[in-house]
Amino acid sequence: MARYTGPVCRLCRREGMKLFLKGIRCYTKCPLEKKNYPPGMHGRIRRKLTPYSIQLREKQKLRRIYGVLEKQFSLYFERASRLAGPTGENLLKLLEKRLDNVLYRAGFAWSRPHARQIVNHGHVRVNDRKVDIPSFEVSVGDVITFREKMRENTDMLTALEFSQANRPVPPWLSVQPEEWTITITGEPTRDMLDFTVQEHMIVELYSK
Ligand code: SF4
Repeated sequence: MARYTGPVCRLCRREGMKLFLKGIRCYTKCPLEKKNYPPGMHGRIRRKLTPYSIQLREKQKLRRIYGVLEKQFSLYFERASRLAGPTGENLLKLLEKRLDNVLYRAGFAWSRPHARQIVNHGHVRVNDRKVDIPSFEVSVGDVITFREKMRENTDMLTALEFSQANRPVPPWLSVQPEEWTITITGEPTRDMLDFTVQEHMIVELYSK
């Protein structure tokens, strides 16, 4: 599946908030703290926000947080609208249950892009079977483990240490760091997200 490969700090500046796409740098030397305006020549010009532009920004923000391209995002939306319950919340749940996101939320990766790379490189097993698809959707009861050699991976070890001290694990995941295991114990809910979003704006955008 294709992914965005351009400069990621631009994306945060465009959305006017930290999307945590770069790992440790997001916590130490984040450029957004000095340049809190959109990128580009006309970035500093204040523009009046229309309802459409707000809806569009919310959609782009969510897409960029999870690293999902336009086509895949609209497929997520279609699925969410077919499920029972509010479409916006269903959409958030589907995105939250992506395997790369689970790794990040459990603390085994610096960022969602880092988690995606770990999955892509075939280091992750779900219920003892290798899964190298970052968009793989986890279910309650799934047990996620890692290839043995990953236990010595310095990047993952430091990410894990940092996350344990700074990022709480959401209650729908049970993490056993010593065994390098994550168990899915429940369904994610809106209040367990680690960012703010107005998902009803996205629903309005797609309902046009
Ligand atoms: Fe760059 Fe991370 Fe700061 Fe975003 S949060 S601007 S990715 S350093």
